[in-house]
Parts: sequence; C-alpha cells; structure tokens
Amino acid sequence: MQNTIRNSIKLSGVTLHSGEISNVTLLPAAPNTGIIFRRSDLGVAFNETLITAKYDKVTESKLCTKIINDYGHSISTIEHIMSAFHGMNINNIVIEVDCDELPILDGSSIEYVNSIEKVGIKKLNANRKLLKIKRPTLFTINDSFIKALPSNNFTIDYTIVYNHSLIQEQSYCYQSGDYYKYKNLISNCRTFGFKDEVEFLKQRGLIAGGSLNNAIVLDENGILNKEQLRQEKEFVKHKILDFLGDIYLLGYPIIGSFEIYKGGHRLTHELMNSIMSDESNYSIVEEESIDQKRYLNTYNSKRISAII
Ligand SMILES: [Zn+2]
Repeated sequence: MQNTIRNSIKLSGVTLHSGEISNVTLLPAAPNTGIIFRRSDLGVAFNETLITAKYDKVTESKLCTKIINDYGHSISTIEHIMSAFHGMNINNIVIEVDCDELPILDGSSIEYVNSIEKVGIKKLNANRKLLKIKRPTLFTINDSFIKALPSNNFTIDYTIVYNHSLIQEQSYCYQSGDYYKYKNLISNCRTFGFKDEVEFLKQRGLIAGGSLNNAIVLDENGILNKEQLRQEKEFVKHKILDFLGDIYLLGYPIIGSFEIYKGGHRLTHELMNSIMSDESNYSIVEEESIDQKRYLNTYNSKRISAII
C-alpha cells in the first residue's frame, strides 16, 4: 500500500552551500499526492511555492540535486531527504522549507530516518504504483557509466574509484528490502570530500556550511574527523544513499537493477531522462494489496473447483 508519515515532523540545521539555518516541517499527505516541496519563505501565491519532486524539474546536478518549479522557485540539496523517503517507502509527503536549501545535518540521512521512525509510518488506503524497467538503458560520460536493466528486484551495484589509499576501488551491491535494511546498511553513511577540494570550494563560497560535523574529510594521511568510519564501505554506500534519493525523482519505487561505475548526480539525472524519453523503456504497474491477492486466490480456487 501507499504510505505517508503518521504526524508532522520539525527539523532544523545549517545548509551546506549557503551556510544558513534551514527550518523544515514534514507533513502527512493524502494518497497519490507524491512528494512535494513547499517554500514557506516566499510570500507569493500558494501554488507558486510548490515544487514537485520529479526528474523533469531538475535544474542542476553538479554539487547537489536542485529542482525548480515553473515560476522559477527552487530547492537545493534534496538528495538525502529523498533517499530517506525512498528507503522507508514514503510515497506521499509535503516538505515545507523556509529557505532554498535543505539542511545537511550530519551529511547522511539517519536523522530523517530516526525522525520518521519516531512518529511512525501510516498506511494509506490506495495501492502502490511501481516503475518497472522493461528495456536496458545506458548512459556514459568518459569512462563512467550507469546502466538500468530489467529485473524482478531492485538492486544497485555501485563502484567508485578514487586515488586515495582508504578508497582506491570500492564496490557494494545493495538489494532493497524493508526500511530496517536501509537504516542499518545505508542511512548513516556520510558524504565525503578531499581536503584540497574542500578548501577550493570554501574559498569560492560554495560550501559555506561545510564542516567536519557534516562530511568525512580526507587528506593524504587519512581521515581528519575525530569520528572515524561508521561502516566499512561508507564511501561507496554514501554514493548508494545519493543514488536512492536521486532515482526516486522518477516518482515511483522501482523494479529493475542498476549498475553504476564512478557515478554521480548528473549521471543519474541523465539516465532518468533517457529512461523516460521512450515509453517502451518502462511500465507503471500497480501493486495489488495483500487483501486483494488473498481474495483473488480464493476466487480463483473456487472457480477452478467449480469448473472441475
Ligand atoms: Zn550525498
């Protein structure tokens, strides 16, 4: 069934790029609402404040994922909260934000997961729809690539390559399951950066809110943070966290497998555009509820015994 949250949630924190404080309120939503961001700071007509979380609203995907509505209002750094919604199977929710960026929190999605867990998930009286990959789709940039393939499950096979002794080549294959699996294996994996690159971005004012509290920072000798790695493959698992958030912009949970080599926001967004550009690449299927399945099974066995 489709889900939403049981009660509203309030969260606050510094934003990564502008360094401002962002106040967020998550609100339960009715079936088939989808995921909608709302800028509460704009002072314009209500419908102009809404930004739908869909792949065709993406306007930038360099340092984060940013979406924009038809009135030119945008919201940035949505990938971690979207990942939490995907991992916890939240299908309908409204996210009110009082600035143009989500807070970075600790650089992972664990705080969103814990807050949702606290209020609980509410089942709605509507069947869930899923997007099924029907044909392989490939997108490449130089030697990096992303592939979507038909499958009966939702799996992500991700490889990253960095010239650093703590990473080198790191691969992880994640097969989605219930939200405990997402919580335990993925949600606490933090974003990461290299000291030189961090200093370069800081000097240009591109990561004003970035600190050792919200990212793993590496130099040639190792990790600069006091807190060492939370998981053995935290780097590649954070890339899976990002991918789960970005790919949820398709608007549905997915049945299909993905292979990603040296991926990033841009590669995922280009892949979504390729998939959705041709209707024969995918189909939207409606999941039957357990009650419906049970009813149909009894109905079929009655029919069969009647025929016999
Ligand atoms: Zn990230």
